[in-house]
Amino acid sequence: MSETSPRLRAELEGIPAYVPGRPAAAGGPVAYKLSSNENPYPPLPGVMETVTAAAASFNRYPDMACTALNQELAERFGVPVSHVATGTGSVGVAQQLLQSTSGPGDEVIYAWRSFEAYPIITRISGATPVEVPLTPGDVHDLDAMARAITDRTRLIFVCNPNNPTGTVVRRAELEAFLDRVPDDVLVVLDEAYREFIRDPEVPDGVELYRERPNVCVLRTFSKAYGLAGLRVGFAIGHEPVAAALRKTAVPFGVSQLAQDAAIASLNAEDELLGRVGSLVCERNRVVEALRGQGWTVPETQANFVWLRLGERTTEFAAACERAGVVVRPFAGDGARITIGETEANDIFLKAAEGFRREL
Ligand code: PMP
Repeated sequence: MSETSPRLRAELEGIPAYVPGRPAAAGGPVAYKLSSNENPYPPLPGVMETVTAAAASFNRYPDMACTALNQELAERFGVPVSHVATGTGSVGVAQQLLQSTSGPGDEVIYAWRSFEAYPIITRISGATPVEVPLTPGDVHDLDAMARAITDRTRLIFVCNPNNPTGTVVRRAELEAFLDRVPDDVLVVLDEAYREFIRDPEVPDGVELYRERPNVCVLRTFSKAYGLAGLRVGFAIGHEPVAAALRKTAVPFGVSQLAQDAAIASLNAEDELLGRVGSLVCERNRVVEALRGQGWTVPETQANFVWLRLGERTTEFAAACERAGVVVRPFAGDGARITIGETEANDIFLKAAEGFRREL
């Protein structure tokens, strides 16, 4: 047998693995998963019924064009249906955006630290990541990001609110930034956590996209809509961008279960957004309690909070786990804690308080 292995692309070397939030250990003490920014509520009854009905025909391929879902989204956002493109989670759509715009020799700008998939999917495309540090307050440094643009820049991610810090950029600064970006560079406004925003100064990316052909908005059904396991997200962008997304889509990538569930969730929006409202109340309670304990917590508009723990991050995550909640540590940097059920949040707050006392 030959020792030679197939020749693989050099770009793949050194690509960090995506680290999924760890699940709560089975069979252990009470354990809650606060590590993946999921919605803690189980699927709504109506959505469950729809998915169960769709399951009866999974011997068939799904509607490849996601016709009904795209139509529903187009109406909801008041955009032409040709501006909507669906994919396997918004991370799938983000990867298609890179495939559509960027390759070896090109540059992709994003803030760091931000969503951990950005460096991975950028490197898979062969393009060079340009990481622009967050400000000391853990916010996107849009001025520095604008200065990082070169004639090799093809795509810029703006994650609003930012994962994992929860921080936002507001209308005036975002518009001023967009004014500085050349027309042939695509700006992707990643709004995975849009529904959790309560700050009226944070613009809706869909409003910004309307006047700007180089802006595209990414949204997902995984967070507020509670469909993380079904993998469906979408982009709203002008015709050439959306058309490129249709070309780069994995054929039949979005299952019929996911398409039908997404439509059912949009129809159950009042109830879903009511749940989001409760999570926002919980978020505000957790932030206040943490600050009361003496922690510095950046202002979050998402369904998670960020604690900059530096070298003590792993130790902190272990302490939370012993108490019964699994959080998402980024070793040497900080921990991201998803807002979950009230009981889970209480366990977390108690663990944080205990840890704080020992600091
Ligand atoms: N964007 C951001 C900022 C995220 O945090 C996530 C999920 N962690 C995604 C995109 C991808 O979500 P999904 O692929 O489930 O839509």
